[in-house]
Amino acid sequence: MSVTNNLNHILSALPPNVRLIAVSKTQPAEAIMEAYNAGQRCFGENRVQELATKYALLPKDIEWHFIGHLQTNKVKYITSFVRLIHSIDSVELLKEVNKRAAQHTRVIDCLLQVHIAQEETKYGFSFDEAETLLQSGEIEKLTNVSITGLMGMATLTDDKEQIRKEFRTLSGFFKQNQKLSTANCRLTTLSVGMTGDYKLAIHEGSNMIRIGTAIFGNRQEKL
Ligand SMILES: *Cc1c(COP(=O)(O)O)cnc(C)c1O
Repeated sequence: MSVTNNLNHILSALPPNVRLIAVSKTQPAEAIMEAYNAGQRCFGENRVQELATKYALLPKDIEWHFIGHLQTNKVKYITSFVRLIHSIDSVELLKEVNKRAAQHTRVIDCLLQVHIAQEETKYGFSFDEAETLLQSGEIEKLTNVSITGLMGMATLTDDKEQIRKEFRTLSGFFKQNQKLSTANCRLTTLSVGMTGDYKLAIHEGSNMIRIGTAIFGNRQEKL
């Protein structure tokens, strides 16, 4: 299967309200260009250096999303162009994005990453922490960021019921907090679902999926 075929296969079964982010981490520019030539414009990367390199090399109408853990000292390398940061996992990081966005007179869209998996290792706010932040009035002071939604990743498991439960809990929290609406905080995007679980995620209310393997094939993981 080619990248184009894979993309079209996924898109043909996607509800119209769901956006597809093609996760191109570790993939070469040629593979990204194949998806681009098939019409895909949104790509997701999880390494700052790799993203900055690809941004410089590839067409400027690509919408670049950052989806991995972001260190505060590296924010400055992507703030001039990044469209959406899915992985805001601390208030410090949000403040740094705000500061750097201001230097570029931009407002950068951000999602709060919520920890829904059982694994200790996944980054993100707990539900309590996310709720506290959303209700604190802190976000309103950060006028160069806009919180447009939430992101989550399920436990790495074959247990579909476990995954469903995690997605459902996040979706419930998302809906509950949609009544919040301030100048720069309104939850409209729910970014959940990857190659192995995106159908389940959409069923449970996701409207943004992040797909790598099902589009580009297996990654050559870096050591
Ligand atoms: C790699 C990655 C994906 C895509 O994973 P696939 O299983 O290849 O679809 C999605 N989200 C994040 C945060 C990732 O790091």
